[in-house]
Amino acid sequence: MVDLLDQKQEMLEKQLKARGITNQRVLDAMMEVPREEFISKDLVEYAYRDAPLPIDEEQTISQPYIVALAAEILDIREDEKVLDVGTGSGYAAAVMSELGKEVYTIERHKSLAESASKRFERLGYDNIYILHGDGTEGWPEHAPFDAINVAAGGPRIPEDLKEQLAPGGRMVIPVGSQIRTQRLVLTTRNNGQFSERDLGRVQFVPLIGTGGWVNREAKEE
Ligand code: SAM
Repeated sequence: MVDLLDQKQEMLEKQLKARGITNQRVLDAMMEVPREEFISKDLVEYAYRDAPLPIDEEQTISQPYIVALAAEILDIREDEKVLDVGTGSGYAAAVMSELGKEVYTIERHKSLAESASKRFERLGYDNIYILHGDGTEGWPEHAPFDAINVAAGGPRIPEDLKEQLAPGGRMVIPVGSQIRTQRLVLTTRNNGQFSERDLGRVQFVPLIGTGGWVNREAKEE
């Protein structure tokens, strides 16, 4: 029998605090969300491993550190609205829902969107709204967003997402000319101007859609 609470505590110390995650609200949210509920039963013993893990549709649940890093950089306040592009398992959306007021999350794979939706309901996340569709187009009906988290890498920052950023809004997005390696970029909107900061090299699954890669490019890789 694996002791998940011990593993979660160790994840907090060795993967997050040791790598510079300091925001107590982020650390609390990472302790609160049960990652084991977002993966298949046969992977539960690896729930707090320092790595992404496979989920359906050849996608992954993000590494805990990457979710915490995005949350720390986005500095989501309690009254803020968040857009999460690439729901996957729903883990990052759940962490961000502990930090902000509402999370709007979009997933291009119908089966993943459906299972994440059921998971949110079962676990009682009633401030997360999910859409099956192309997240590179954002969710205009609910814009603007104070924070946007993009969990898949594209060749550029989608214009629709920039437009849906509120004044003072922050977006983290992996961007790169290679399909499977990117730089994590922080885009901030202030006084109608966008500024960008490079946060280092990352490896995300491809962002596929009108503002990302076309599906054929991702398959040819
Ligand atoms: N944060 C998620 C989690 O913790 O489970 C991880 C998501 S996974 C790294 C990235 C997800 O982005 C995949 O599920 C993939 O299908 C999705 N995706 C890729 N392109 C997308 C797009 N244009 N719109 C919505 N989802 C997209």
